Amino acid sequence: MTEDYSVIIVGAGMAGLCAALEAGINNAKVLVLEKEPAIGGSSLLSGRFMAFAGTDLQKKNNLIDSTEQLIRDMLEVGQGKNEKHLVEAYGQHQLDTYNWLVDKGVEFDAVRAASGHSVPRGHTIIPIQAITTLYNKCIETGNVTFTLEASVKRLRKNTEGRISVVMYEKDGLEYFAKAIHGVLLTCGGFSKSEEMLQHFAPQLNAALRIGGKGNVGDGIKLAWEHGAWVRDLPYLQGTYGFHPTASGEKKSQAHVFYKGAIIVNKLGRRFVNESISYKLIGTEALKQPDNISYQIWDQNIMNESVPGDALYDFDNLFALGLIEKADTLEELANIIKVPEKNLKETVSQYNQGIQNGTDKEFGRSTLTHTFGEPKSISQAPFYAMVTTTAMLATYAGLAVNAAAQVLNAFDEPIEGLYAAGEIVGGFHGAGYMTGSSLGKAAIFGRIAARSASVAPIRIKENLSI
Ligand SMILES: Cc1cc2nc3c(=O)[nH]c(=O)nc-3n(C[C@H](O)[C@H](O)[C@H](O)COP(=O)(O)OP(=O)(O)OC[C@H]3O[C@@H](n4cnc5c(N)ncnc54)[C@H](O)[C@@H]3O)c2cc1C
Repeated sequence: MTEDYSVIIVGAGMAGLCAALEAGINNAKVLVLEKEPAIGGSSLLSGRFMAFAGTDLQKKNNLIDSTEQLIRDMLEVGQGKNEKHLVEAYGQHQLDTYNWLVDKGVEFDAVRAASGHSVPRGHTIIPIQAITTLYNKCIETGNVTFTLEASVKRLRKNTEGRISVVMYEKDGLEYFAKAIHGVLLTCGGFSKSEEMLQHFAPQLNAALRIGGKGNVGDGIKLAWEHGAWVRDLPYLQGTYGFHPTASGEKKSQAHVFYKGAIIVNKLGRRFVNESISYKLIGTEALKQPDNISYQIWDQNIMNESVPGDALYDFDNLFALGLIEKADTLEELANIIKVPEKNLKETVSQYNQGIQNGTDKEFGRSTLTHTFGEPKSISQAPFYAMVTTTAMLATYAGLAVNAAAQVLNAFDEPIEGLYAAGEIVGGFHGAGYMTGSSLGKAAIFGRIAARSASVAPIRIKENLSI
């Protein structure tokens, strides 16, 4: 028997939940299929940052930001390789989505600067609070049904050529469900698919693999079968900042470099401007001898540790034994087995650059993107954390338009098929702004739901086919 729904959503992370809630509020009958026993996907594991601009929280912290500045930063960080209309759509809907999330009960507790921010705009959520709140709100609408441990296997078109039937497996049985308005793919990226990573990004073989267990690229394959185009595969990159043990039970991540640490390889030499996108740093780090690098900093920078923060709680990582400490740089170099002379020279050269206002080697003049001033590394004791790159989110995937319709190789929408969240490519381009992935999941999840369930006729009229 085939069940009928207005909209069927595949995957219950940030994008799927925002889509389900938006559709449910608008009285669409929604089915959410999630292959894992629990909802949340990578969204639940995330570092908590969502990129928004011009919010009440920024104003409370005397931070002046704007949609225009956010768009500029995203295009700059993406090195102009991003699809401009997608970035503009993000800009157009970002503040409304932030306010919508707050209105629905999602709590934002702080704003921090991170990769690609010219103004601190990483709004921190507590993932479990956000995911649970959105789920409960979906249930409250009375229009959204969740089916867990339901893995979507194939999509089928109706006789008019519109994607409308979803085939899924649950408890070893095969089920079919029909979507009258649209099927939304919100099933995340492929950071846990060794097969796809080997195929598309062999340069990342040495990177750790972190991400939601179910994120193996199913959605990309489902859409490929129906002619979907993909974007951004050449820009697949890892994220720098993880301790080598981070793919285990506890994620251990520290971006001390965005507070002023330098990064050196096992020869004790810097190899990158530490204020650029951590994706780009990640790529450079994988080219270093034995893939080994260290963040190096002093007590002044250590004092900037933020308790409980996903990226900046250095004290916690120290307490966990993941950070080395020494009274002198020589001692530190010996502990981490880096040539003593080289490390001293590197730090001394860097400090001279700070004093003279020019980092001759790598041109570092900020902490993150265009924000903040680098500091010298001179106040004992000194610290080091061995740090590596992790593949935690793929950011390359299906081509979509600003209405979240999946496009074929001729830029034409595949009727009835929508996508949002990490599964989508073309948005970030060659770099990455912290918080724009969860941000994009929420913003485009809502857009996809509106396109599919609220105004399918209007969207159809807008198509240039
Ligand atoms: C450690 C870590 C830290 C991060 N930090 C940040 C951060 O601070 N800020 C930020 O913006 N981004 C961050 N990211 C990236 C961000 O978390 C993800 O890109 C984002 O959560 C993706 O949301 P999503 O809804 O698209 O996918 P997900 O949240 O991954 O949800 C996809 C869901 O689809 C399900 N699914 C997959 N295939 C199927 C199928 N065939 N049938 C049914 N269900 C299926 C999966 O099981 C999963 O539950 C981080 C990621 C990680 C891993």
